[in-house]
Amino acid sequence: MSWIDPDFPKTATPSDVIGRVLGLNPGMMTGPGTNTYLVGRRDPILIDTGIGVPDYVPLLDRYLGERGWKAPSRVVLTHRHKDHLGGVKDLRTRFPGLPVAKRIHRDEELPDDVDDIQDGDVIEGDGVTLVAVYTPGHASDHLCYYMPEEKALFTGDVVLSGSTSVIPAGDGDLLDYMNSLKRLQGLDVRRIYSAHGPVIEDGPGRIAEYIAHRLQRERQILEAVGDGIETIPAMVKKIYAEVPEKLHMMAAQSVESHLKKLAREGRVRETVVPDKPSLWNPMSLG
Ligand SMILES: [Zn+2]
Repeated sequence: MSWIDPDFPKTATPSDVIGRVLGLNPGMMTGPGTNTYLVGRRDPILIDTGIGVPDYVPLLDRYLGERGWKAPSRVVLTHRHKDHLGGVKDLRTRFPGLPVAKRIHRDEELPDDVDDIQDGDVIEGDGVTLVAVYTPGHASDHLCYYMPEEKALFTGDVVLSGSTSVIPAGDGDLLDYMNSLKRLQGLDVRRIYSAHGPVIEDGPGRIAEYIAHRLQRERQILEAVGDGIETIPAMVKKIYAEVPEKLHMMAAQSVESHLKKLAREGRVRETVVPDKPSLWNPMSLG
């Protein structure tokens, strides 16, 4: 199955208390589009809102009708990226007064009247509870939501099905990200409902895979640095030799996030060179 699967169902009901409505924004970064989840027996809580595609609200409306529901009771967001928060405006036009909340942290622009959710906050729905789990790394404001009733974890963009998570330069942080994955490993999880792609049946297996993948990448990068390969473009060429060149920009971002993590841990050193790529060298321990 390809990452951008045109046959990915637009709506689904993966459990009695979980419904899924697709944000209708397929693409390289979003796969089949952003998943939005309706959680609860009635008056469901809506997790994320898509990017604001005009057809999304009518699709949501149709699904609500199929379930015998009228409206979401509230919106909780995983993080501020546009493909999660962009639908808020249209939703509030359709459902005036709809409460919206997220972890407010380093936000530059938010819609009006967004409430703050802190790590550990419990959001009560009808027959379900969502526990906010602060998981920075992909974005500094990122929350996952844990639903103990089904040991279900809504991971937003921290764990995806069919792709690795991007650690954007600037707001992303791989060291935080790895710590977030370890934190998720400490929860008693069955299924993962991610923001992109199908349900992940073996949640713990997927988290372990993610950690292993990053550690393997880190080893490759440390090896390259140890071999005297000093710049990111040169490292990408070596490590991503099998990957098509058009993806090398994204690969470079990934390598950079690893190098920054290693620098924060005191294992490599960056030398900035004007108008040229930085040089990266190993730091001898001790
Ligand atoms: Zn994101």
